Amino acid sequence: MAGRITLTMIKPGAVKNEHIGHILTMISEAGFRISAMKFAQLRRSQAEAFYKVHKDKTFFNALIEYMISGPLVAAILEKDNAVKDYRELIGATDPTKADNGTIRKLFAESVQKNAVHGSDSDTNAQIEANFFFSTSERFTEDGYILL
Ligand code: ADP
Ligand code: MG
Repeated sequence: MAGRITLTMIKPGAVKNEHIGHILTMISEAGFRISAMKFAQLRRSQAEAFYKVHKDKTFFNALIEYMISGPLVAAILEKDNAVKDYRELIGATDPTKADNGTIRKLFAESVQKNAVHGSDSDTNAQIEANFFFSTSERFTEDGYILL
């Protein structure tokens, strides 16, 4: 069964460009519930850990510089089929290939500065949610802490 959570980051460029509000509206209107959310400024070692699967890619160093260049917003989004549905809402990694109306089509500056992150599997969604949030920072619909 598909998991019910995914992890998003509104990346530093989209925060700087004042797109937080519009992106969160699109997330809400697509039927996701935000069960955890915060600003974070990643240290280099944290960004490297988050993106370690890409450490041998040519774009790795530039990606890390970008991700530590300012505050980002991290959030856990909840919905049936959260991973797949959120990847659809954000669109392709390269905004020139993203469908019209997707978050990346609307707000990405480039393939690197592509506005948002979305987990690529249920397993990674759990790992990434744990990377940013402790259990006491996650809330149910009734406002109870998710333990
Ligand atoms: P996604 O974020 O869509 O899952 P990847 O996991 O492949 O994409 O890549 C992680 C991030 O690395 C991308 O969101 C983007 O910021 C950056 N990136 C990916 N491919 C490139 C590229 N060819 N050039 C520059 N940056 C890239
Ligand atoms: Mg990815």
